[in-house]
Amino acid sequence: MKAEIISIGTELLLGEIIDTNSAYIASRLPALGIDVYYQHTVGDNLSRAIEVLRRARDNNDVVITTGGLGPTEDDLTREAIAAVLGEDVHLDPELAEGLRQRSLRQGTPFLERTLKQAWLIPSARPITNARGSAPGWWVERDGKVIIAMPGPPGEMTRMWEEEVAPELLKRSDGAVLVTRTLKTTGMGEPLVDETLSQLLKSNNPSIGIYARPDGVHVRMGAKAPTQDEARRLIDEMEVRIRELLGIAVWGTDNETFMSTVGEMLAQRGLTLAVMESCTGGLLSDEITNVPGSSRYFRGGIVSYATEVKELMGVDPAVIARHGVISNETAAAMAAAVRDRLLADIGIGITGVAGPESQEGKPVGEVHIAIDGGGKLADQSLTFTFGQGREQIKRRAATQATMLLRRALLASEGAAS
Ligand code: ATP
Repeated sequence: MKAEIISIGTELLLGEIIDTNSAYIASRLPALGIDVYYQHTVGDNLSRAIEVLRRARDNNDVVITTGGLGPTEDDLTREAIAAVLGEDVHLDPELAEGLRQRSLRQGTPFLERTLKQAWLIPSARPITNARGSAPGWWVERDGKVIIAMPGPPGEMTRMWEEEVAPELLKRSDGAVLVTRTLKTTGMGEPLVDETLSQLLKSNNPSIGIYARPDGVHVRMGAKAPTQDEARRLIDEMEVRIRELLGIAVWGTDNETFMSTVGEMLAQRGLTLAVMESCTGGLLSDEITNVPGSSRYFRGGIVSYATEVKELMGVDPAVIARHGVISNETAAAMAAAVRDRLLADIGIGITGVAGPESQEGKPVGEVHIAIDGGGKLADQSLTFTFGQGREQIKRRAATQATMLLRRALLASEGAAS
C-alpha cells in the first residue's frame, strides 16, 4: 500500500511553523506496512489544494492530510476533497448537534460558521476528534482512501493513534517494519561498530549505528508479515547485541538517560540535589521532565552569581583559592547543595558557556562534581565542550547524568 502525506496551511508553506505533523505520520507508516514516497505542503488556496490532492489520489492508495479543518473561510480541506471527488457537501445533523452540545458544555457562544465542521460528503464518514471540535474525514471511494485530520498536533496525534492507525493496520497488506533502538554510553561509534561487526551483516533485522548527544544508538529494523513476527526477530537480535555491548547499553527507544538513572536512584532509595551555575537549571529541568522524579529529586539551586554560591553554603575560601571555574568549586557546590537540601547525593556544575571566556578559562570548560555523601564515590572532573552556548549547556547536563550513572554502577559493583 502506498501513501502520500499532505500538510495544508500557508503558515507551513512559508516556514512560519514547522511541519511536525508530516514527520510524525511518516515515521509511523513503516510500522503499518505502508510505503510513503512523497510529502507535499500547500497553502490555504483552494485550486492548488485540489491540484495537489487530485495528483496524490491518482498516484497512491491512501492520501493523508492535516490542517484546514477549522471553521473559518480559509479552512478549505473539505471543499478541496469534495471537488476532487465531484461530490456535494451536506450538513450532518448528528455532527451539528455534537457541535452545539460542545459549545454548551464549554459555555461558549455557538457560531453558525462552526457548522462547517459538521459537513460531510457521501463518501466521507467522520473520524472522532477527542481533543477538539473538528472531526476528521475518512473518505473512501473506488478503492482509494483520503484521510483528513486536524492541524493542531495534539488533536492529530490522538486521532491517529486511536482511530486512524488501527484502521490502516487492518487493511495493510505489506510487510510491517518494527524498529527498536538500543542506547549506549562510554563507547565511541567506531568501537560499537567493531564490537558488533559480525551482526552488522544481518539484513533482517538490519542494524544501523548513529552517534547522538546521549551516546551511540544502535537501531534495529525488522520486516515481517506481522508486527509479532517482526518483534520476535528484534527480540532475538537485541539479546545478541546486549551480550556484546554489556553495561554500555543504558536504555531503549523513548527512554532518556535521566529516566534510567532516576530509576536506579529510586530503586536504591537515594535522593539527589543539584547546584547549577553554567547550565542555569537545565539539569533540574531534565530531571523533572521524568514523571515520578519527586521520588528521588530533592531540588536544585541555580547559583549563577558567585555571591549566591556563597549564600548557598559554598566556602568563599575555596572560590578565592581555586576560582569559580574549577573542580574544587564544583565539588564545594555539590557538597553544599547535598547538605542544604538534605539529599544523599549532590551534583555541582560550573563552567564557561560563552561566548566570552571567564577567569582566563576558555569557553566550553566545564567542571562537574558528585558528592556521594559516603554512599557513592566523590568525583570532580573537567570537560571541554564545543559548539556554542546552547550545546555546551546541554552537553554539561547530559555529562552530569552520565557521571552519576557511572558512579551508581560502580557502587553497585563494589557492593556485590
Ligand atoms: P483548527 O480547528 O484549530 O482551525 P485546523 O484543522 O483548521 O484546526 P489549521 O488551522 O490548519 O488546523 O492549523 C491549526 C494550528 O495547528 C496551526 O496554527 C499550527 O499551530 C498547528 N499545525 C497545523 N498544521 C501543522 C503541521 N503540519 N505541523 C505542526 N503543526 C501544525
